[in-house]
Amino acid sequence: MDTNMNRDTPIATYSEKNDGNERESIYVTRPFLPPIEEYMQEIAPLWDSHMLTNCGVLHQKFESQLKKYLHTAHLALMTNGHLALELILQALLLSGEVITTPFTFASTTHAIVRSGLKPVFCDIRERDFTMDPTCIEACITEKTTAILPVHVYGNVCDIEAIQAIADKHKLKVIYDAAHTFGETLNGRSVAGYGDASILSFHATKVFHSIEGGAVVCHSQEVEQALLRLRNFGICSEEHVEVAGTNAKMDEFRAAMGLCSLRHVEEEIKKRKEIFECYLEHLKGVAEITLPGDKTEDDFRPNYAYFPIIMKDETSCESLYDLLRQNGIRARRYFYPLTSRFECYRNTFSAGQTPVADRISRRVLTLPIYAGLTVLQVERICSFINR
Ligand SMILES: *Cc1c(COP(=O)(O)O)cnc(C)c1O
Repeated sequence: MDTNMNRDTPIATYSEKNDGNERESIYVTRPFLPPIEEYMQEIAPLWDSHMLTNCGVLHQKFESQLKKYLHTAHLALMTNGHLALELILQALLLSGEVITTPFTFASTTHAIVRSGLKPVFCDIRERDFTMDPTCIEACITEKTTAILPVHVYGNVCDIEAIQAIADKHKLKVIYDAAHTFGETLNGRSVAGYGDASILSFHATKVFHSIEGGAVVCHSQEVEQALLRLRNFGICSEEHVEVAGTNAKMDEFRAAMGLCSLRHVEEEIKKRKEIFECYLEHLKGVAEITLPGDKTEDDFRPNYAYFPIIMKDETSCESLYDLLRQNGIRARRYFYPLTSRFECYRNTFSAGQTPVADRISRRVLTLPIYAGLTVLQVERICSFINR
C-alpha cells in the first residue's frame, strides 16, 4: 500500500516537517534509508560502466540475493509490484474470471481488470481479514481460471484450504504477497506458495528498492514468460514473441534493494518492538480489536502494519480526525473496498462481501516503522485511550 494515496495531502509528504511550534507530524510509515555512503558505494561503478538499466550487474546481484533470501529458484524482478501482478496474470495465460478480495490496495483489483479479466469478489474472514475459504466455491463459475488472495497486513491466508479448492477445480493460485516480505512459515518464505506470488518493494513497505517488485514462481517456463513480458516481448534482436511491456528495474533501484536487504532483519526487529509496545498500551481498551500477538512457533511475522478495528464507523472517523488534528496520520486501510471505487460504479456489488464491508468501515492502521520512538507510540496511544 502506498501513502501517496492520501486524499488531501500531496505526494511524499511523509517526510515533511511542521515548521512552526507544532510537533512534527507522524505518518503511517516512513521509508527506510541506508547510510548514504553505503548507497554511494553501490552505485559508484555505474559511472564507469554507464550501464544504467536493462538488467545490469546490480540487477543480477539483487535478483540472485533475493532468490537466496526468499528460498526460490525462480524469480523475476520488476519495476514495481503492480506490474509484477499484471505480468503474472498474463504469463499464466489466464482468461475469464479471477476470484479475489476487495479488502486490499487498488493494485490487486486494477491488475485483474487491466489484464482483461473479471474480478469476482469473495468475502474475508473476521479473524485475519484474508479470503474466507468457505466462501470461495460459491464464487466459482465455468469461467473461473484463478484465485488471487491477498496476505493482507502480512496475515497469511489459509494456504492449505485455498490450494485444496484450487486443485479440485483446476484453478491457478496467485498470491498478492506485497505485505509479506521477510515472513516465513515453517522455515519457508511466505512468498513461496501457490503457482506464484508477487512482492512489492515500494518505498513504504517493510523492504524496498524505492519502487520495485518481483514475481516468485515455480517453473522455468513461467519465469521465461515473465522475463519476455517485462522487456517488450523481445527475445533477441530480431525476434519479438509477445506484445510485452516495459517493467524492467533499473540499476539505481537495484542498488537501493541491495542496501535495504542488508538491513531488513534489523528493520523487522525494530518494528516488532513498536508492535509490542502498541499491544501493551492498548490491550485494556474495550472499544477496539487489536491484531493478534503473532507469536506462533512456525510463523515469523514482519510487523508491517498495526490495524485496529473500532466498534463502529463513527468512532473510527472521530479517532481518525482526533489523531489528525494532533499531527498523527493514521490511515483508513482499506477503505473503501476496491469494489466500491468510483471507476467500478455499477460494475460490482459490495453487498456480496458483508464482512469485508463491515471491517473496511471500522479499520484504522496506526503508524509503524523502525524510526518510531516509544514516546511517540505512547503519545498516539494516549489519544486512543481517551
Ligand atoms: C503496494 C501494494 C501493491 C503494489 O505495489 P507497488 O509496488 O506500489 O506497485 C499491490 N498489492 C498490495 C496489497 C499492495 O499493498
